[in-house]
Amino acid sequence: MRFYDEIKKYPWESVRQEIENRSRIEVERALAASPLRLEDFTSFLSPSAEPYLEDMAQRAHRLTQQRFGRVIGLFAPLYLSNVCINSCVYCGFNAHNPAERLTLTVDQAAEEGKYLHDLGFRHLLLVSGEAPNTVTVEYLARVLERLRPLFSSISIEIYPMETADYQALIHHGVDGLVIYQETYDEKRYKEVHPGGKKRDYPWRLETPERGGQAGFRRIGIGALLGLNDWRTEGFFLALHARRLLRTFWKSHITISFPRLRPASGGYQAPAPVSDIHMVQLLTALRLFLPDAGLILSTRESPQLRDHMIPLGITSMSAGSRTEPGGYANATHAEAQFEIADDRSPQAVADIIRQKGYEPVWKDWDAAFLH
Ligand code: SF4
Repeated sequence: MRFYDEIKKYPWESVRQEIENRSRIEVERALAASPLRLEDFTSFLSPSAEPYLEDMAQRAHRLTQQRFGRVIGLFAPLYLSNVCINSCVYCGFNAHNPAERLTLTVDQAAEEGKYLHDLGFRHLLLVSGEAPNTVTVEYLARVLERLRPLFSSISIEIYPMETADYQALIHHGVDGLVIYQETYDEKRYKEVHPGGKKRDYPWRLETPERGGQAGFRRIGIGALLGLNDWRTEGFFLALHARRLLRTFWKSHITISFPRLRPASGGYQAPAPVSDIHMVQLLTALRLFLPDAGLILSTRESPQLRDHMIPLGITSMSAGSRTEPGGYANATHAEAQFEIADDRSPQAVADIIRQKGYEPVWKDWDAAFLH
């Protein structure tokens, strides 16, 4: 069954009410359950679970250590282009935003890559807006030719493509795909994506599966927290991740839960998410999906990032710039959003060490696979 049809079995409002109505007895039952069922996960997401957060956090910590050891992967985004045909209301790259647009030349992209390589990064995330006429497979192939010798793992967070295009990119050295659904609520999705190709909800929803069919070794999904009720969003995020874990069991499935950050356009989050609820979502996801990688970006404050390291995070970005050419080329192009953690990658690595973890710059998985 298509995922688009599967999630129709779970009307958004019914799921939201079910989570809201979970009782403390159901939370205690979930804490005693093994293995956890979807119902148990909804109990962990509920308001009734808040008094049990410390217990959930300790379990999440132990589980993460058992599955992943004491390591935190580090990666950096490299923004290739802020050109975009879409008009997502929350994003600085929105096509209607009268901003300076820039697509890096292959040489500029190589300079940015060299800069990040010199900082120690070996895992790179190539990012762009939806610019199918500019950020083409051919352009990416030329960029990859220059970057591949510098990095052991290269992922893309660009725009949804056909399976054949993904296969071509894998051939050119990409091993990971990141694509966020933003919100799983189709009604809200249509409201915040008023124009452009991104308005096509099912096309985006099924992108991770096209990536899995193409053979990506890692597939990352996510929801943009702040767009909608975070508890219900967490339910659908987990449903999606569980399906991908079962279907593409050879791939490493990761989940990101970025919170809305200020961006030009001034969009205000309709459903802001507190720090404590971020922690609840993280621990609930870890308990339900012990094998999923959980990723935290520089959208979050240093304090929260440091606090979340032992709770289930497996990978973090560091020292990020969100405008194309922001590292070595000192451009003044429009940034996608403001970052909250502007510490240097080395400072982030030091904190990880102070917490008793090993910062991992090189993607050992990919090294083993090639
Ligand atoms: S979120 Fe992505 S697709 Fe939407 S406007 Fe920004 S860059 Fe374009």
